[in-house]
Amino acid sequence: MAILDYLQADLDALEALGRRRRIRPVDSPQGAVIRVDGRGAINFSSNNYLSLANSPLLLAAARNVLETDGFGAGASRLIVGSLRPHRRVEEALAAFHRTEAALVFNSGYHANVGLLSALAGPEDVIFSDALNHASIIDGTRLSRANTVVYRHRDTADLASKLHAHRGRRRFIVSDSIFSMDGDLAPLVDLRRLSDQHQTALILDEAHATGVVGPQGCGLAAQLDIVADVAMGTLSKALGGFGGYVAGSRALVDVLTNRARSFVFTTALPTPVLAAAEVAIAFVASEHGDELRAKLAQNIERFAQGLRALALLAPGAGTTPIFPIHVGSDAAVMDLSERLLAAGIFAQGIRPPTVPAGTARLRFALMATHTPAQLDRALEVLADLRRDNLVPPRSDA
Ligand code: PMP
Repeated sequence: MAILDYLQADLDALEALGRRRRIRPVDSPQGAVIRVDGRGAINFSSNNYLSLANSPLLLAAARNVLETDGFGAGASRLIVGSLRPHRRVEEALAAFHRTEAALVFNSGYHANVGLLSALAGPEDVIFSDALNHASIIDGTRLSRANTVVYRHRDTADLASKLHAHRGRRRFIVSDSIFSMDGDLAPLVDLRRLSDQHQTALILDEAHATGVVGPQGCGLAAQLDIVADVAMGTLSKALGGFGGYVAGSRALVDVLTNRARSFVFTTALPTPVLAAAEVAIAFVASEHGDELRAKLAQNIERFAQGLRALALLAPGAGTTPIFPIHVGSDAAVMDLSERLLAAGIFAQGIRPPTVPAGTARLRFALMATHTPAQLDRALEVLADLRRDNLVPPRSDA
């Protein structure tokens, strides 16, 4: 047997579990309507909440910077220095989050793994919500800290765990809007517990940046609380690519020195940075407010429609993310295909992205979805409900 023959067996095992994944070809720019798997469909699968991914504003910024600052970054910034677009986007991010400083990473994933492994070590404790994003989980593992997972959004469970687990330094880390459920972390309680127990609060605002809060600067700002460390991404509502951490100057300087996902990788090329800079200005402007208002109307309309079908998950309905729970891995992919055949693209989400037994369709709304497009999706879902292919929620 050849040494790598186990690969095919591995794939066959995934297939048998209904968990083998493949990447669909898309032959159009990202937008409310895309061409996916060879057919036109209304797109409910992207995190492009404000439709900036193909905005002429971002395209122009990405093009223009090539003339003034060139393309590649050359090396890690610690080796070859920060180009003007790196510096400008970090100034914009610090102003956006009203922090002393900000540091751009090559993705949100890089930001979380770098951040957690730089701040915490084996003598420390990280309290982490059970449904935190995979990049947080990987960051806690890399840190080798004692990671204590508390039940999803359960502050009583967190409080008892804070009493039980001591360490040199302690951190609470949570998504602010949960990526696969669209529900909100109990940020006011997390801040209070964090203060009471003298832990540092780290918030991942990836799905909140640009979407909620004054000028779109996140859920913490909306609730008038301040995280000790704010992490976000340039890749979702901001339409492009890259991640960041915002906080004190000392935090950014420590990350610059110790975050290995920053230190040991070539920095982002200029077009994504120039695009991010205009995206930040845009989301913070009244144009951003207009798009957020449209998105809020879409969220309301879609939530009402799902509620009428007994498909609205508890905790969903206030953010653009709507999970429709199906349960079995094979069934969710079958449903996703049926939806696509009807012109609706909502990707099925399976383990390990979500816990076993909780496979779901994930509908993510955009500001530029029209009421007719939302209604069309609801109509197709109603048909699937009628045929008993989507189970109603018992708690709805
Ligand atoms: N945090 C959360 C909560 C996310 O959902 C994601 C992306 N799915 C990330 C971090 C990683 O961000 P990026 O896609 O920019 O790597």
